Amino acid sequence: MVKAQYVWLRCSRCQRRFRGSTRTEALGKLRKHLWKEHRAWMVSRIKSGLRKAKKTKADNPALTSALKSIISPSWVGFAEKPVIEKITGLDYDVVKAKVLDFFVNMLMSGILKQ
Ligand SMILES: [Zn+2]
Repeated sequence: MVKAQYVWLRCSRCQRRFRGSTRTEALGKLRKHLWKEHRAWMVSRIKSGLRKAKKTKADNPALTSALKSIISPSWVGFAEKPVIEKITGLDYDVVKAKVLDFFVNMLMSGILKQ
């Protein structure tokens, strides 16, 4: 008989363990737990990620890398659509548009200064 293989993940905040038959399943449970039990920490993580992205782009005004960020801002992948809408109180597409505006404005001001 084949022994069931489980994937275990541990919450870095409270050491609680989560089991799934696949990594995706375990990750889903862990993420759900993080949002439920450690919401403030998750929000601060996203905010610090945003700050970091802003700083990196400001330090490196190369158009190509900035354009890559517009196409796939890493934090959009990090938080799910309903989560983003819950935090910001805005529609996901509005948030995405705002991020795009932010990068475009930054690019334009960088160009004008040169
Ligand atoms: Zn936890």
